[in-house]
Amino acid sequence: MRKPKLRELKEAVTALIKGPYTSKFPAVPPTVPEHFRGAPTYEPDECVGCGACGEVCPAGAITITDMVSEDTGEMVRHIERNWGQCIFCSQCYVYCITGKGIYLDEDFEKSTMDRGDFLDAHDKELLLCERCGAVISAKEHIHWIADQVGELSYANPTLMLARHGELNQVDRDEGVDEGKRLERDNYMRILCPNCRAAYILTDEWGES
Ligand code: SF4
Ligand code: SF4
Repeated sequence: MRKPKLRELKEAVTALIKGPYTSKFPAVPPTVPEHFRGAPTYEPDECVGCGACGEVCPAGAITITDMVSEDTGEMVRHIERNWGQCIFCSQCYVYCITGKGIYLDEDFEKSTMDRGDFLDAHDKELLLCERCGAVISAKEHIHWIADQVGELSYANPTLMLARHGELNQVDRDEGVDEGKRLERDNYMRILCPNCRAAYILTDEWGES
C-alpha cells in the first residue's frame, strides 16, 4: 500500500482537529447564502394573473389556461404550478410584473412520496371583449395596468371602464352583438384590441 501524500495527511489531521467539512443536513438545516435560489413560493393575493411566469418558465412548471370554470361557469385564467418540474432558475420571479406574485425562498428540501404534493393552482377572473367575447386579460391584470398608468388610463376606455366598473361608478348597458356596426356610442365599451381598431377605422373612414 502506497504511503499517503503529505497533503492528504495534512487534510486528515486538520479534519480531526476542526471536524468534518460536510454539513449535518438533514439533521441540521444549512445556512444558505444571500440570493440563494430555493423553491418558488406563489402569493395568490400579489398575483394579478398576467401569465408572464408561464411564458418564461423554461421547464414548463407553470401552465396558463383560459377556460370556463367548473365551479362558477365564468371564464377564468387557470394558473397551474407543478413544482416537481421546477429547476429553480428564478425566471418566474425575475419577470413577475408585480415582483411579489412569485418568489424563490430559502427552502430547497421538497422531497415527497406523493407527486400530487407538487401541484397547486389558482383561478383569476377574465375580462372579455363586450363585442366579440375575446379574452382581453385577467381583470386584476387590467386593474393593475390602470393603476400603473394612473390618469393616462382615461385615454383608454377599456382600462377606465374596467377600473370604474369594479368600483360600481359606471352604470351602463353591457354587451354588444358581434357583427353589429360599431356606432360612436360604442366607443365607451370594454373592447379587445381588434374590436377597438375596427371601431376607430369605422368611425374615421366609414364601413368598408
Ligand atoms: S424557478 Fe424556473 S423552472 Fe421553477 S417555476 Fe420558476 S421559471 Fe419555472
Ligand atoms: S408573472 Fe406574477 S403576476 Fe403574472 S401570473 Fe405570474 S405570479 Fe401572477
